Amino acid sequence: MPRHAYVNGRYLPHGQAAVHIEDRGYQFADGVYEVVPVYKGILVDEGPHLDRLERSLGELRIPMPMSRAALKLVSHELMRRNDLSHGFLYMQVTRGVAPRDHKFPERAQPALVMTTRQTKPHSEKMLSEGLKVITVADIRWQRCDIKSTSLLPNVLAKQQAAEAGAYEAWQVDAEGRITEGSSTNAWIVTAEGKVVTRDASHAILNGITRLALIELIRKAGYGFEERAFTIDEAKAAREAFLTSSTSFALPVTRIDDTPVGNGHPGILFAKLRAHYMDYMAGLEETT
Ligand code: PMP
Repeated sequence: MPRHAYVNGRYLPHGQAAVHIEDRGYQFADGVYEVVPVYKGILVDEGPHLDRLERSLGELRIPMPMSRAALKLVSHELMRRNDLSHGFLYMQVTRGVAPRDHKFPERAQPALVMTTRQTKPHSEKMLSEGLKVITVADIRWQRCDIKSTSLLPNVLAKQQAAEAGAYEAWQVDAEGRITEGSSTNAWIVTAEGKVVTRDASHAILNGITRLALIELIRKAGYGFEERAFTIDEAKAAREAFLTSSTSFALPVTRIDDTPVGNGHPGILFAKLRAHYMDYMAGLEETT
């Protein structure tokens, strides 16, 4: 069965799906996106992802391309057509197609594209050995809370990480504090056993996995602080990890050339990942 994509009202074979050359997403990165994980055929946290999509669009004054209910229908239909069980759904909304001119076009329909991708579970090696991250200067704009398709600094950071043999690049602000990864949120566990992640502001994307994990941490009663932390604090931390819709939660065992803690994935991390996996598995029964 060929994989399908949804493009502006039509389901097309993935290889033939295309947008207009004057789509403002293509010319100006004038658009936003969401990546929704699919676990055992269930869209994980669909509601919060749609909330964030609406918020990002609102901040850029791009209208919703269709109602939330219609977006859900299209998502589910695409998942059905592509027989998606594990992976993710990608949605992108741009300001639409118009003759190239920076200011907002007077008449443009927002353009909507959705694709899905089947993925394999994270490797045992990743989970048992942990990952390396490098630190890079955060050279992004001052509205990182908007999930914009304008991702050049993130692309450059991830490439730098890949070339250094690392999984991710943790971006660092002018004060030496970590904001977040190029496509993940950053976390540490302090020597006192407190879980710390940066507070949600314009400096980071408020990850949906981040929000779900905070809720689980609070419910389980672990010590938790939402605040910025420096590179030095991260390197001296007992544990470190990252979260995202495609990574869920993955252990970080090396930051630049410094091993984190004893150089192995942390005990608290393992518990938190287990909580998150249970949470996703539990969604099946309630959805
Ligand atoms: N920060 C950035 C910059 C990201 O691109 C992502 C992934 N979308 C995240 C954090 C994690 O967000 P989420 O948990 O919603 O995938």
